[in-house]
Amino acid sequence: MTIDSTPPNKNFIRDVIQSDLENGRVDGVVTRFPPEPNGYLHIGHAKSICLNFGVATEFKGRCHLRFDDTNPAREEEEFIEAIKKDVKWLGFDWGEHLYFASDNFEQLYEWALYLIENQLAYVDELSADEIRKYRGTLTNPGEDSPYRDRPTSENLDLFREMRAGKFNEGSRVLRAKIDMKSGNINLRDPVLYRIVNAPHPRTGGAWHIYPTYDFAHGQSDAIELVTHSICTLEFEDHKPLYNWLIENLPTPSQPLQYEFSRLNLTHTVLSKRLLIQLVKDGHVNGWDDPRMPTISGLRRRGVPASALRDFAEKVGVTKSDAIIEVALLEHCVRERLNKSAERRMAVLRPLKVIIENYPEDQTEGLNAINNPETPEAGSRTIPFSRELFIEHEDFMEDPPKKFYRLAPGREVRLRYAYFLTCRDVIKDEWGNVKELRCTYDPKTKGGNAPDGRKVKATMHWVSAKHALAAEVRLYHHLFSSAEPDVTHDVVKEINPNSLERLADCRLEPSLKFIKNGETVQFERLGYFCSDPDSSDSALIFNRTLELRDTWARIKKKPLV
Ligand code: ATP
Ligand code: MG
Repeated sequence: MTIDSTPPNKNFIRDVIQSDLENGRVDGVVTRFPPEPNGYLHIGHAKSICLNFGVATEFKGRCHLRFDDTNPAREEEEFIEAIKKDVKWLGFDWGEHLYFASDNFEQLYEWALYLIENQLAYVDELSADEIRKYRGTLTNPGEDSPYRDRPTSENLDLFREMRAGKFNEGSRVLRAKIDMKSGNINLRDPVLYRIVNAPHPRTGGAWHIYPTYDFAHGQSDAIELVTHSICTLEFEDHKPLYNWLIENLPTPSQPLQYEFSRLNLTHTVLSKRLLIQLVKDGHVNGWDDPRMPTISGLRRRGVPASALRDFAEKVGVTKSDAIIEVALLEHCVRERLNKSAERRMAVLRPLKVIIENYPEDQTEGLNAINNPETPEAGSRTIPFSRELFIEHEDFMEDPPKKFYRLAPGREVRLRYAYFLTCRDVIKDEWGNVKELRCTYDPKTKGGNAPDGRKVKATMHWVSAKHALAAEVRLYHHLFSSAEPDVTHDVVKEINPNSLERLADCRLEPSLKFIKNGETVQFERLGYFCSDPDSSDSALIFNRTLELRDTWARIKKKPLV
């Protein structure tokens, strides 16, 4: 990846490509990212995107974006557009190489006829259940279908009639004729075409038969002249079939398939089926809910694309299954945001402070640094006045030993402003602290006392009359368990408190001009991203992360 300065880790896929180039199996690299447009992309896909586009860039080749749109029943245009947007946002460009498996339907059909003519495929009339029974098990060989030895001409006629829409769904399939006794179940006469009487988002009503993944995928690779077809480990057992089809068809090229282990992440699920459930059952507010592990959810939460690329690089590419701690992702996000996010002051749970010795109608502008990590970010002016808000939890009436923040009689520093001493506590009728009466020391402007006296805490604040009101949404893990139980593909153990909405937050006035989707650091509180639902009259921020890095504390065990 050239966008980042981090040099790519070595991994076995890069090694394979390097040696294929050196020994002349290929003279250039072509990869592809092949999503099925049946949902939004998640961070697992991001790993695959970074790998496919990453190696293509590294070896001066190209990477295609190909929609594997062979299942009209589950696919939608909305997903196609969302996927394109996400890949672009991640920083990758397929140029003119945007493809659809459906563009190849006619060629695939011709090749199916070719297999039939060569006695390598037949139309089967067994039901789906019967096919399953005849297929055998891992320990028992399968049995030949009674339709396996139909004459070629009958197969050709039936297959043409299937295409023409003469038959009901499920009544017939086209199967490759390979070996019902093969040790690899994928080679026991796999289905190549099934009847689906549903319109396709791109080919409309033109087809009544659709190729299976196995028949469409490798052949599309070959048509696009893909050299390295990189996929996840669950396709390892399909490789002999991938190769069988390429060997037995007059394809224009001979791609090879390589498998790596999928990304798994703690406290979430990375399977479209399960993510669809979360959306459909209303556990989240759509695919781009900031709690979702989708690329669009992470973006809305304020995660920069560069952090996802760093993360993909850090988790590496291997063949062993592992579950990655979500804390590693958070660590990558913090590293990026610490450099890029401007600092602002905001109070999430406001407590009013009145500075009794500060003139009533005075306002002064104080200089505040935008980003201590990035001096070029400059500074801004924030207003200070007699009435402020501080964070409720920064005050304790009866502080325990190690609480150094504000308490009756105690002096603290207000960031960029003055020393402040609490003189009096005002309570409501139920005894809750409602307001603090304080004094400030005018000689401590900028936060230092000329007499050298020290305070133990520096606190953030906003000027009450200048503050903007906002809603801030705090997010917690979507699943309470680190490794959610998803047996039978059902989501359980959903954390009922994953969303916390704070309706009465106060922000420094410069945040009025923040762009939608921009992430800033609220000093001492974390990183926060302006939500696209914000309007001028109703500001909404999403907490990306708190500042504390838990990854640093996790024992540095090997990742994979
Ligand atoms: P899911 O299992 O979530 O439904 P999928 O594999 O069906 O995902 P596709 O749209 O077919 O989703 O995936 C496109 C590409 O992304 C494939 O090459 C697939 O191997 C890869 N991919 C999907 N999930 C992961 C993951 N968790 N880690 C790495 N790569 C993944
Ligand atoms: Mg898939």
